[in-house]
Amino acid sequence: MPVLYPVLLLALLMPACSREQPQGDAKAQTTPDRNTMAAIPDFSGARAFDLLLKQTSFGPRNPESQGHDACLQFLLGALRASADEVRTQEFTHIGYRDARIRLTNIIASFKPAAASRILLCAHWDTRPRAERDEDPSRRETPILGANDGASGVAVLLEIAALFKKTPPPVGVDIVLFDGEDYGREGDVDRYLLGSRYFAKVKAIDYQPRFGVLLDMIGDANLEIPKEKKSVAYAPDVVDIVWSMAAQLGVTQFSNDIGDEILDDHVPLNEAGIKTIDLIDFNYPDESHRYWHTHSDTPDHCSGESLEAVGKVLTHVVYRTLP
Ligand SMILES: [Zn+2]
Repeated sequence: MPVLYPVLLLALLMPACSREQPQGDAKAQTTPDRNTMAAIPDFSGARAFDLLLKQTSFGPRNPESQGHDACLQFLLGALRASADEVRTQEFTHIGYRDARIRLTNIIASFKPAAASRILLCAHWDTRPRAERDEDPSRRETPILGANDGASGVAVLLEIAALFKKTPPPVGVDIVLFDGEDYGREGDVDRYLLGSRYFAKVKAIDYQPRFGVLLDMIGDANLEIPKEKKSVAYAPDVVDIVWSMAAQLGVTQFSNDIGDEILDDHVPLNEAGIKTIDLIDFNYPDESHRYWHTHSDTPDHCSGESLEAVGKVLTHVVYRTLP
């Protein structure tokens, strides 16, 4: 989309280049039957929204901030209470003005021994600045990131709690990436720090069937198009998720093809993990945006939106055959 070209940063248009599609068996669906459906737990948008509020209660969660430290402890506690196994990946990045930035990815695994696995992911850090804010004097202060950060994590924490009570039929790894939003506009190399690190160090034999990335899915006015790179990399995964949404009557998933977004799914796909990005960049709509401003606050998000995404994702996981 030409209009997006000059404005995006998280959403930089990627250079057109042909890459081989990652290999992987995303064909994982069973036809829903009554028994399977009965076993699928209810995803609660209200509980997920509380988990969003919990994160924003720590304030901005940009690397090296107090909120980042506090939120990390909260996330570790919540996932240790739900998952079979929780690991961290700690790494450093030399940031602006030679600052040494400490970053942590969190990996929570369910059924860690299962060979057949699904990857669910989101970034948990928030942006250290607000260069899109209308007030120039506040552009260098960190944002709260209710949608850009907390929303995807909230959905995954609620799903983790469901997995604890009702173990999923396949192995699941919930990965929370750090440092997605660190880079300044246009400084592409300083984005996606956590997912790049994860892709770089991943074991050769770690090959989930597919991955789903959640980013900015809490917008109260939620409409998720099919992100263009996801369609190119993993059309079968897009089909699985969108047909589930249609079956469930979840109308927040649009059949429109969205813009190309540079997000954490790109390093994963480049490392051979077929991953799609669920993202609604038009927050709240095409004409004005809270993205990377101090208006990215909980009152512009909703539990209903979190529930729409969480419900679809829950059904995708529980209807996947081992
Ligand atoms: Zn962002």
